[in-house]
Amino acid sequence: MYAPKYYNEFKCIADKCTHSCCVGWEIDVDCDTLEKYSACEHSYGKEIRNSIDCEGAPHFRLCESERCPHLDKNGLCNIITHLGEDYLCDICREHPRFYNETPHGMEVGLGMACEEACRIILNSSEYDCFVEITPSSKETEVTSFDPTLERAYIYSLLKDYSLSYEDRLKCIYNRYRVSPFALSDDKWREIICSLEYLDESHKELFSSYSSSASAPKETEKKLERALAYFIYRHCSEAYDYGELCAGLGFCLFCERLLCSLAEKRPDEILTLARIVSEEIEYSIDNTQQIKEEFLF
Ligand code: SF4
Repeated sequence: MYAPKYYNEFKCIADKCTHSCCVGWEIDVDCDTLEKYSACEHSYGKEIRNSIDCEGAPHFRLCESERCPHLDKNGLCNIITHLGEDYLCDICREHPRFYNETPHGMEVGLGMACEEACRIILNSSEYDCFVEITPSSKETEVTSFDPTLERAYIYSLLKDYSLSYEDRLKCIYNRYRVSPFALSDDKWREIICSLEYLDESHKELFSSYSSSASAPKETEKKLERALAYFIYRHCSEAYDYGELCAGLGFCLFCERLLCSLAEKRPDEILTLARIVSEEIEYSIDNTQQIKEEFLF
């Protein structure tokens, strides 16, 4: 299994996190962990069992302000403090990791919706360097299309520092014939308004979208790294060229959206990147809807 070099820097910052992933998300409990909770004889086991809503997919019933019932007032997880990390359900143990299967084996990454992962991703210039996380027993598959070769090529265009950032983006648009400029800003704003949101106020925030936004020079490196992250996450499993271009179009749109926001609030680019991630690419429906605009 492979990961970008920055992957090993990640460690959850727990009570130091100002936007905990234990607030606002529905947390599903997988079957194996549910069985473990049922058999748990520790006094905290009863609290856990009482906190699970089994209607539909079993999940923790959120408290006021949408907090996980096991998140204490200091931002620490009661399941860990009472029972240890082994008692976390799959989602809590894995977050913010995501996995992709490529012809060369599995890849793992850090999702930018996590505050600490976002900080690491936007500060890492070596997004095109990969490290082995666990030895792979899988033979490299011979496939007619290899998305990782295209990804390496896109990264080489993105890192051609002899050109301005704007011109590097244009090279990618031209090489893959995919560009957010294919739709008018009005059409994009209409699409933005039709998306689903965790926080409705973000709909208004995103309505300042403009494909031709130009963020201050000091934000360019972070925009480049955010785009590289989107590409790592959304283009690496493409099974053919059309699927790659749809994924790439989606990534380029996310970059333009972040640039539109950073144009007005450059100092807040880390927070803005996290918001774009959690509202757009963490929603399967939103991702699909935007990708469809690039399918041809
Ligand atoms: S968002 Fe990231 S850093 Fe914050 S509590 Fe969750 S995993 Fe930890």
